[in-house]
Amino acid sequence: MKSLSLKVQQIEESQTLAFTQLARKMQSEGIDVVSLTAGEPDFPTPPHVKMAAIQAIDENFTHYTANQGIPALIKAIAEKFISENNLQFDTSQILVSCGAKHSIFNALQAVCNKGDEVVIQSPYWVSYPEMVKLVDAKPVFVNATAENNFKISATQLRRVINEKTKVFIFNSPSNPTGAVYTQGEIEELADVIRDTGIYVISDEIYEKVIYDGVKHFSMGSIKPIRDQVITVNGVSKAFAMTGWRIGYLGGAKPVVDAAAKVQSQVTSNATSIAQRAAAAALSAPTKDVDEMVTEFKRRRDFAVEQISKIPGIELKEPKGAFYLFPSLQSFVGKRWNGKMIRDDMDIAQFLLSEEHLAVVPGSPFGAKNHIRLSYACSMKTLQQAMERLKNACKKLHEAY
Ligand code: PMP
Ligand code: GLU
Repeated sequence: MKSLSLKVQQIEESQTLAFTQLARKMQSEGIDVVSLTAGEPDFPTPPHVKMAAIQAIDENFTHYTANQGIPALIKAIAEKFISENNLQFDTSQILVSCGAKHSIFNALQAVCNKGDEVVIQSPYWVSYPEMVKLVDAKPVFVNATAENNFKISATQLRRVINEKTKVFIFNSPSNPTGAVYTQGEIEELADVIRDTGIYVISDEIYEKVIYDGVKHFSMGSIKPIRDQVITVNGVSKAFAMTGWRIGYLGGAKPVVDAAAKVQSQVTSNATSIAQRAAAAALSAPTKDVDEMVTEFKRRRDFAVEQISKIPGIELKEPKGAFYLFPSLQSFVGKRWNGKMIRDDMDIAQFLLSEEHLAVVPGSPFGAKNHIRLSYACSMKTLQQAMERLKNACKKLHEAY
C-alpha cells in the first residue's frame, strides 16, 4: 500500500479531544477518574433551543439548506454582530459552518497560499498551528508570557511581520490562558495590522465568558482595518451547544465568498436542524448565558483560591474563558518511584496514574511545563479535582 499524505503525517491529532476521550474511556471502564480536560460547558442546551430543533424536525426541515446558511440564522447573526460587537455586515458577508473550528479552517483556506506565514500568539489553542499547516502555510509564534498576563504587545507583533505574513490569528478571551485584551491593547495591535495589510482571524468564541467587569472588544469594529478582519464566533460555548456544530464568520465579501466556495465543495451547509436551534439561541434574551457565566466565575474563584495555597504551582488569574493554565515547572526534575518527571507530559501522566486526575498537558498549547485545567465541570467535580491536585503536588513537592 502507498504511504499516507505527508501533510497529514506532519500534523498532530487534537490533544484536547484526545485527552478528553482518554478520560471518558477510563471512566467507562469503571476507573474513578476526575476529568478537567473538556473545553465544553457542562450545562444542558437551553430548553427553548432544543424546542426549536424538535420543531424543525417535526416540520421536516431536514434537507439541504443554502450553503451559506438559512436566512433566519444569517439575520440573527447580522443583528448580533451589530448590537453586541459593533460590526456592520451585510447578510452576504456572513457564512455559517459546522462549528467555529470549521469557520477558522474555511477562512484559512480562503486566504492562504503555500509558504505564507500565519502569526499565532503562544500559548495558543491546539488547532491553530495544525490548521495552518493543513493549508500549506507556516505558523510563526509570538510569545505571550505570564509576566505580561499572557498578552503580546504591538512591538512584538510588528517584529514578526514580514512580506510573507498573510494572517494573524487573534483569540481573546484566550484558550488556554484566559487572557482578555482591553480595547486599548487591541487598538495598538490594530495600528500594526493596518500598516501591513495582513488579514486577522479574530476568534471570539469565548466573548461571553468573561469576568470582573472586563469588556470584550471586537477588533473588526476598528474602522481602518475592518475589511482585514474575519470575525469568527459560534454557539458552542455561550449556549452550551458544542455537539450541535454551528459556527460562523463575518468579513469582507471577497473573503466570505471564497470561504463559502470552499465549503460548497467540502461539506455543503451546516446541519439544517442545528441551524434552526442556533437561530433560536441567538434571538432570545441571554438569561441562561448570564447564569452560566456567574456559575463559571464562582468556580474560577474557588479553583484559583485553592491553587494559590498549593506550594510549587504558579497561576495567573484568568479573566475569561473557563480554563486555568498554571505552571508546574518547579516539579520538573523531581523523582517519583524512581522515575524522573521530565516535562508536562510526565506531570499529566503522574496526575492521572497517582491521583486519577485528568488534565491536558501544556505542550500542545505551546507552553512546556504548564497544564490546562477546565473548570467547565460541576462544583463537586472541581472540589474533588482540587483535593487530588493538592495531594499530587504534595507528593512531588516532598520528592527530591
Ligand atoms: N476556538 C477556540 C479558541 C476554541 O477553544 C474552540 C473549542 N471548541 C473553538 C474555536 C471551536 O469551537 P466549535 O468548533 O465548537 O464552535
Ligand atoms: N475547544 C475545546 C478545548 O479546547 C474543545 C476541544 C477542541 O475542539 O479542541 O478543549
